[in-house]
Amino acid sequence: MTIRVYLFHRVSPQSEAWAPAMDPIMFERCVRYISSRYRVSTIEELMMNPSGAKEGKEMACITFDDGFKDNIEYAQPILAKYGLPASFYVVTDSIDGGSPPWNHQFHRYFEKTDALSFELDIKSIPDDFCRQRWHNKEERVDFGRNLYKILKTIPSKDMLEGMNQISEQFSDVAPPTDYMMTWDDLRELQVSGSSIGSHTKSHLMLTNLSEGDLEAELAASRNRIGEELDQLPISISYPVGDYNKLVMSKASACGYEIGLAVGQKFYQKGEGSPMQIPRVDVYAGSGWFKTRMRMNGSLELIKRVVKV
Ligand SMILES: [Zn+2]
Repeated sequence: MTIRVYLFHRVSPQSEAWAPAMDPIMFERCVRYISSRYRVSTIEELMMNPSGAKEGKEMACITFDDGFKDNIEYAQPILAKYGLPASFYVVTDSIDGGSPPWNHQFHRYFEKTDALSFELDIKSIPDDFCRQRWHNKEERVDFGRNLYKILKTIPSKDMLEGMNQISEQFSDVAPPTDYMMTWDDLRELQVSGSSIGSHTKSHLMLTNLSEGDLEAELAASRNRIGEELDQLPISISYPVGDYNKLVMSKASACGYEIGLAVGQKFYQKGEGSPMQIPRVDVYAGSGWFKTRMRMNGSLELIKRVVKV
């Protein structure tokens, strides 16, 4: 049985370069498209109660990563209008603190600071990235994009130290607040039939963590959600789709039964581990034609054919 698991992030009329948002009008188009073609359930319900999925009937699931406030402000009313449940994967430190995960904050620093130079002192970052001068904002933002690619690959401790040094030097940028859903928001979603899962404690790249830190990330977020929502989550969405065998086995050992990845393909139930369910990322910023092709799988098909 094919299950189409769709991944969304922000839904808001105010998109920002550091955290792009899908316009609610486009989101409603996506929801209308999905609900007119498929039976929609949460991935948790489908995996745990297989009898709910009738053979031959095409199924789809709607998921959100990160836990931005606009999910309940703009996406939820549209989902409610069509009577659809969804799954929301939240970063528990971000829910507790009201600030977006580090990767969004990183891009925001480079976007919003007035600084035209900086220095980093992190051994795992190549020297030529550690001393920089820029002529203007465009150069700085461009450099930030390249530095981000490096930060995603180095040990998480170094990445966090890098973020510290960046926040100290770009101190003209106040940390963003009130961007995330609250525990009350999540309880409201839960009551309305949606499912809340973990997107870890602090959105670190899980494959860059030591075994002990990995276990702590997985367990702390699970317990925190359990504490606030009276129900331990059974699912986890790996930040930035970053996982490996160790992450999968540690997540299972921690009590998670479903692991959500990104793969731009549909999930064939019964094939592969439930700890690596692929999702189709429905990006913000594309027009309807491309978005629809992404949702029905034809965009990936064309990409594969072109590659061959
Ligand atoms: Zn994320």
